[in-house]
Amino acid sequence: MSFNDRLAERFERIAKILELLGEDKFRVNAHARAARTVEGQAADLSTLAGDKKALTAIEGIGPKIADKIIEFATSGKITELEELEARVPPGLMRVMEIPGLGPKTVAMLWQQARVESLEDLKRIIDDGSILTLPRMGEKSVEKIKKSMAFAAEGNKRLELGVAMPLAELIVYEVQKWPGVERAAFAGSLRRGKDTIGDIDILVATSDMAGTGERFTKLPGVVEVLSSGEGKSSVRMRASADLNRWGADADGQGVQVDLRVIPLDRWGAAMMYFTGSKEHNIRMRERALRRGQTLTEWGLFPNPDDGDPTPPHKRGIKPIAAATEGEVFAALELEEIAPEIREDRGEVDLAEHKGEKGGKGGDGPHRLPRLIEVKDIRSELHAHTTASDGKMSIVELAGEAKRRGFHTITVTDHSKSSAVAGGLSPERLVEHIEAIHAARKDVTGITILAGSEVDILADGSLDYEDALLRRLDLVVASPHASLSQEPVVATERLVRAISHPLVHILGHPTGRLLNRRPGLEPDMREIYAVAKAHDVALEINAHWMRLDLRDTHVKGAMEAGCLVSIDCDVHDPRDFDNLRYGVVTARRGWVTPERCVNTWDAAVLHEWLGKKRQ
Ligand SMILES: [Zn+2]
Ligand SMILES: [Zn+2]
Repeated sequence: MSFNDRLAERFERIAKILELLGEDKFRVNAHARAARTVEGQAADLSTLAGDKKALTAIEGIGPKIADKIIEFATSGKITELEELEARVPPGLMRVMEIPGLGPKTVAMLWQQARVESLEDLKRIIDDGSILTLPRMGEKSVEKIKKSMAFAAEGNKRLELGVAMPLAELIVYEVQKWPGVERAAFAGSLRRGKDTIGDIDILVATSDMAGTGERFTKLPGVVEVLSSGEGKSSVRMRASADLNRWGADADGQGVQVDLRVIPLDRWGAAMMYFTGSKEHNIRMRERALRRGQTLTEWGLFPNPDDGDPTPPHKRGIKPIAAATEGEVFAALELEEIAPEIREDRGEVDLAEHKGEKGGKGGDGPHRLPRLIEVKDIRSELHAHTTASDGKMSIVELAGEAKRRGFHTITVTDHSKSSAVAGGLSPERLVEHIEAIHAARKDVTGITILAGSEVDILADGSLDYEDALLRRLDLVVASPHASLSQEPVVATERLVRAISHPLVHILGHPTGRLLNRRPGLEPDMREIYAVAKAHDVALEINAHWMRLDLRDTHVKGAMEAGCLVSIDCDVHDPRDFDNLRYGVVTARRGWVTPERCVNTWDAAVLHEWLGKKRQ
């Protein structure tokens, strides 16, 4: 959250508490207006904290509000807010956050029914006593119940695979607006985090006046939080049913912010709003050391004359601002991919050192060449109708071929995954024959016979070795007993990785985003054993899994492990999840040669064959 956003949130809270306490209407409005003003400012107001005149020059900010901005910038708090908060029960603030529940209603609930928390409110709804209160009919209570449920799920972070298609849909629509020159999403979504808190959309347009209005009228909008020329915020329903608006879906709500950016400042703004915060701090420090100032408005020469007014407000021309490439180049840095802008050493590595092609230094390119979707040439984890997949062997192989893969491995479930249609040893034998037979139906792609074998609770595998040896590839995955103690989980996975017939450890922790945390083994032990036994750790590309997660991938790379990026295909559309797996790999600094799916057919098949000799 930016300084302005945090400040606006505090003014909003002051206004709400004042109203709750029945204070003077004028004071309530002054703070509500200040919140909107502050939020709509493009410049970071903390940079004006030393200049009260500059603050009061902004319309909507009077001397008293300016004092509070200065206090917040210098001390991180606003005394008045703290005093006000002391006058209301802390749980009541949560009640006020329920959308659609105004301060007047909350005050009434507090005074007449002693509601001081969400639990209190839930109690009087459940026992029906809320209906005896003024203006509380069945209909209004029903509305409150819905809002409470919405607010509760609003705290959940949205999965990458739900957020990204929605953001792309928004960008697609925004690009159609008259006057729009550029539109893109930024934030943690652009960095490819597995879950995101909100969606940031930037737009450069010659028709600024209409943007707020058009944005709030997008089909997915369920609530308008604020609307202005510079910035607008809405809440949208996101649908897991991709490529359509979620307004009528049961999906979660997500806040979407639209910011209007001048075209000639596009690159600087994209960098600023993409983050991460820690990465941006590192970049600003570098600029400062070089006698420059980096802001969301550009990279500026540092005038160093003590004037705290931000450079773009003083008419100072930026050294670079229009594209990210320009800004990186002006800072003498190689361009850093969004996915690794996390302050994990990337800025130092991006520094130009030594001559191009010459000796001395480490050469000009020290950042890893990160893996891309187009590098992936095989899918090694896929299910058919034999277990819980939707395609036959031939359909699966045809789809994989259509997508340009040289190898597809059929890996249906093993016998213990009974609910997923796991195969008995007898059925697996027949299935292997069916897979071999399919090779003459679909040519131009290698169809391998494999299995996704359950790793049982003690780390043993779900089939006898003699049967496993008949398979071209074994993915060993944990599916049950996923709340084991870390020590037990480590032993379990280590045993499975050490099995001489296993090639890949599938979705290693078994986590499901927003649903279950999965196993928490000692990952360093896992990396070490996987490297020693030449087992690839899977990055399961399904957006509900993304397991290994980014930080584990980075650890695996540092430990010298191989990874396998697989879509765990059940349905033809699952192949489309590949990009989420690749983004997660990029966040973990994976280079193509460390991912077995990028290898040529001959190299891959030889690697698989080594465990069958
Ligand atoms: Zn699985
Ligand atoms: Zn699977």
